[in-house]
Amino acid sequence: MSLSLYRISQTLRAISQETNHHFHNRRLVNRLQITIRYSIEKTPLPHKYIPIAILAIATLMLGCADTDPSSNASSALSKSSEPFVAVLGIAQDAGYPQAGCALDCCREVWKNPSLRQHATCLAIVDPISHERWLLECTPDFKDQLKLLNQLDSNNSKKGINGLSGIFLTHAHIGHYTGLIHLGHEVMGAKETPVHVMPRMAEFLRTSGPWSQLVDYKNIELRILENRKPVKLNERITVTPIQVPHRDEFSETVAFRVDGPNRSILFLPDIDKWNRWNENVETIVKSVDRAYVDGTFFGDGELPNRPMDQIPHPYIVETMDRFESAPQSERAKIHFIHFNHTNPVHNPNSDATKQTTEAGFNIARQNDQFKL
Ligand SMILES: [Zn+2]
Ligand SMILES: [Zn+2]
Ligand SMILES: [Zn+2]
Repeated sequence: MSLSLYRISQTLRAISQETNHHFHNRRLVNRLQITIRYSIEKTPLPHKYIPIAILAIATLMLGCADTDPSSNASSALSKSSEPFVAVLGIAQDAGYPQAGCALDCCREVWKNPSLRQHATCLAIVDPISHERWLLECTPDFKDQLKLLNQLDSNNSKKGINGLSGIFLTHAHIGHYTGLIHLGHEVMGAKETPVHVMPRMAEFLRTSGPWSQLVDYKNIELRILENRKPVKLNERITVTPIQVPHRDEFSETVAFRVDGPNRSILFLPDIDKWNRWNENVETIVKSVDRAYVDGTFFGDGELPNRPMDQIPHPYIVETMDRFESAPQSERAKIHFIHFNHTNPVHNPNSDATKQTTEAGFNIARQNDQFKL
């Protein structure tokens, strides 16, 4: 038993240290549960209450320890009254693993479904008005809606399954094809507002099967204008900012989301920073957190495809660009939209270490940020 108690005390010490560094509480809770479960099994019957009591104390500690008002996921966060964004997916359009990939990048993930990651998507949640919006409607929509219901179980289910609207960045498959679930064959949504730029609206209105969603009034297209804020309610606005990104079927935008206290930038896809007529440093400076295109870690990541045909700012390029920026600016950047080949999917990879040691962050599914 003393060995078990020793392990518990070690874990608690690690928790108190790590919580001070704003580690992800979910990871800590998992670690704690494994240790406690192990201890309860090994402890003789009369003393079993000791690890159970420690679990209760530790749970209270975790509840109180999250002192950064804007920090990442905690169940307490979704119970507070401030609106927040939640990360419902971090993978490139194809999700993780990618269809047909039998290489090292996806092998473990095929074997272990708990490692799977949804395509990039953010939710905006207002716990007072009980409204929720999605930035993107991905091929993983049904799982992401379930995830959203779990973290915001108090919503009053306004609109279709509690969704007050959807904002789409562009017409690449990972960003809008989840709309099929709103249609006649699935949820039969009624006039769910879908906010899009003019070309994107034309694309949806004129190409099947999306045109049926418009004809049957499952969705109602609301046209966005570059740089023109859309007021979601008294506390939240969303502003589209146009970016260059191949643009075969539609324009592409980033979204800026402003809440009562904080703001975020959501920019999952862009060709290269120097092809943009806006200055990324200035925009990052104007927000509190920036979820930006981290599709590829570096050049040569796709050995069988010319990477100049699918331009993205590599993570290493963005890190170079922000190298001399103050630490507070670098820390705002949360890379997102990872291709299956991107080594930052693995939290223990050298690429992840290189990124975080340089002061940047990797977005993870279930992260939350108060607005
Ligand atoms: Zn994409
Ligand atoms: Zn792969
Ligand atoms: Zn794209």
